[in-house]
Order: sequence, then structure tokens, then C-alpha cells
Amino acid sequence: MEKASFSSTQGKPIRCKAAILRKAGEPLVMEEIQVDPPRAYEVRIKILCTSLCHTDLTFSKLDNGPLARFPRILGHEAVGVVESIGENVDGFKEGDVVLPVFHPQCEECKDCKSPKSNWCKSFTNDFLSNTRRYGMSSRFKDSSGEDIYHFFFVSSFTEYTVVDIAHLVKISPEIPVHKAALLGCCVSTGVGAVWKVADVEEGSTVAIFGLGAVGLAVAEGARLRGAAKVIGVDLNPDKFEIGKKFGITDFVNPALCGEKKTSQVINDMTEGGVDYSFECIGLASLMEEAFNSTRPGSGKTVVLGMEQKAMPISLGSYDLLRGRTICGTLFGGLKPKLDIPILVDRYLKKELNLDGLITHELKFEEINKAFDLLAEGNTIRCILWMDT
Ligand code: NAD
Ligand code: ZN
Repeated sequence: MEKASFSSTQGKPIRCKAAILRKAGEPLVMEEIQVDPPRAYEVRIKILCTSLCHTDLTFSKLDNGPLARFPRILGHEAVGVVESIGENVDGFKEGDVVLPVFHPQCEECKDCKSPKSNWCKSFTNDFLSNTRRYGMSSRFKDSSGEDIYHFFFVSSFTEYTVVDIAHLVKISPEIPVHKAALLGCCVSTGVGAVWKVADVEEGSTVAIFGLGAVGLAVAEGARLRGAAKVIGVDLNPDKFEIGKKFGITDFVNPALCGEKKTSQVINDMTEGGVDYSFECIGLASLMEEAFNSTRPGSGKTVVLGMEQKAMPISLGSYDLLRGRTICGTLFGGLKPKLDIPILVDRYLKKELNLDGLITHELKFEEINKAFDLLAEGNTIRCILWMDT
């Protein structure tokens, strides 16, 4: 990669292109925006490429409640290069290749110092602010000078963005940037859920509800852990062939189960339930089905899907008494600064397989086409390339 020089822009606002969500459910609009310089603990980065996750799609349609905000710059799976740094920024310098991540790690709070989880007491509870340390203060303005909302502390659908250091991971420049972008959300979430949350053992049986990029990353995690049987559940029959490349051994299409519930079919296939199930769709009814697919006594369900309408789930209290557990996870339980470099390393050692997840590559300007592809189930991940 050609080394960029940013000395002329440091400390000044940058004008660049961004894809703005002006109204729920409408196409994004390409506009020229202003990106302010980073403040203390912040870094301004030039995005090299970004992909699109189902969470972006969910938020693009969300039309009410505190999480629905317009105008907004979505996007949270991306790789960039550091253009400039604010005060009090250690460990990042101009030209570093970086991965912005929606999940924070302050490295100082009780939770960040504990190996028990990837929770960050300092920051994780705040989903609503634009910037981590400055509340609703935004670094983006449109051409009429109005603030534009950030998204999950990343906002990658713009040529430049500003990210807090708690959301930034320096990565090896050896990994191709479009592969690295997937570590910003789907791959880390899926592989991490198997590795850190479920801690799947060799020889286990696994059911994965939803074979999008997150579900396929769960399959890859299960393959790395030596799972014996990996059942994929998806309504899209095309996902079955694709899933085989990621170590899916058996398939269930809920539309073809007749009178039987998916959980009953899985119980029959596994003599009483799988050891681990993962919900990677975002539907409360399937979180319940995933729970009922596990083995009484020891089965564990991990919810990764973000419920598309924030619906509650309902579990049989006796089913719970029978010794099954269920939990949810953000970012697959990974501590970004600690665990992403491990995944990069495993990719470079050819242990972690990321082939086949990127099915499309388009120019940034074609972003609405990428939304359509994902919404229609015709892509796993579509990479959008910024102009270099
Ligand atoms: P995706 O759109 O790429 O894939 C979803 C898959 O589910 C598709 O293959 C689709 O055919 C299948 N599907 C949809 N409805 C179904 C149904 N009723 N029955 C069976 N299969 C069905 O999505 P993705 O980008 O892989 O994301 C999956 C979920 O994970 C989303 O809810 C997303 O918001 C969430 N997510 C959560 C985290 C986290 O930190 N927990 C991180 C990333 C994504
Ligand atoms: Zn995501």
C-alpha cells in the first residue's frame, strides 16, 4: 500500500464524501461533509474499505425510539489508516493501519482488567452518545453546518471518521485490509462466541441459527475447536451449499419441517439436543427455538442476533430448570485490543479461514446496491472500496 502523507490536513477540518441516512428506510445520500479534527483521546482515520453488517440494515430501518437518529452516518466494519491524532493519544501514529470497533475497551476499569468478560464498565453502558468522552458532541457536519449523528462510535460510511482510542485497534499491515474489515464485527463476534463465551470443546454438537456472516463465523469457530457435528439452520436454501465450505455438516430448513418445530428436528438428529446453539438472526422466536434445541442438563445457548424489533424472549421455566443455560454476547466476548491481534495472527498463520465470506466488492458510491444485496439475502459480505 502506498504510504499516504497527511501533514497538510492535521489540525484542520477535512471535507470529504459520506453516505448519509436522512430518513428511516430510505436510500443513503452521498453528500460532502466536514469532519472535524480529533479531540483528546481521539484519532481521525481515513477509511480504506468498509463492509455492511445486518446491524446497519436494522438501524437504517429503525424509525422510532432513542436509537433512531437522523441524519446519521452508519457503518461499523471497516479498516482505516491514521490521518492525525488528538492530545493524550498513545500507541497510535500517522500512517498506522487500524481497525475501529463498536465495542469499547478502556483497559483501566474493573471489567477490562478481569478475564471474565469483555464488558467495559467505563463505556459499554452508553449506546446513545456520538463520541465516547464528549456526549452528543459530533465531529461531522453537513453542507449547511448541521451536526450529523455518529453510529456506534465508528461511522465508517465516510471517507474520514473520528474514533475514540477505546474503540481502536492497531493491526498488522500484512493482513489484506478487506479481510481485516471483517474482524471489526462479524468474524470476531462469531468466532469469539465459540471461543470465549461458549468455550466449545472438541467433539461437541453445535446448531447455528442463521448462516449469514456471523453464523458462518460461528461455524468457523466450531471447526477450529474440532466440533463433531455442526447443524446450520436457514430459510435460504442457497446457504446450505455455502455453509458446507465453513464446516456445516447438516442442515435444517425450517420451511421444510412440516408440523415439527426446528428444535424437535434438531433433538431428533442429536439424540436429545445439541451441546451448544447460537442464534445469529435476531428473532425472539428463534432465540427460544435455539434454547429448546440444546441438551437438557448441560446445553448452552448463546444469543448473538440483535432482535430486530427489540422484542423480549420467553422461555419455559421448567425447561430452564432442566439445567440448560442461555446468555447473550456483544462482540463475541472478545476484548478488542487483546483478542483481535490474536485473530489476525491466526489468519496470517493460515489457521483462521476467511475465504468465501466476501462475495461482492463495490465502489463506495454504490453503497445502496450493497444494502439491497444484504436485504435480499444475496450477499454474505460486500466490501465497499473508498477511492485510494
Ligand atoms: P445476515 O443478514 O447476513 O444473515 C442472516 C441469516 O439469517 C441469513 O442467511 C438469512 O437467510 C437467515 N434468516 C433470516 N430469517 C430467518 C428465519 N426466520 N429462519 C431461518 N433463517 C433466517 O446477518 P449477519 O450480518 O450475519 O447478522 C446476524 C445477526 O447478528 C443480526 O441480528 C445482527 O444484528 C447481529 N449481530 C450481533 C452482533 C453482536 O455483537 N452480538 C454483532 C454483529 C451482528
Ligand atoms: Zn456488525
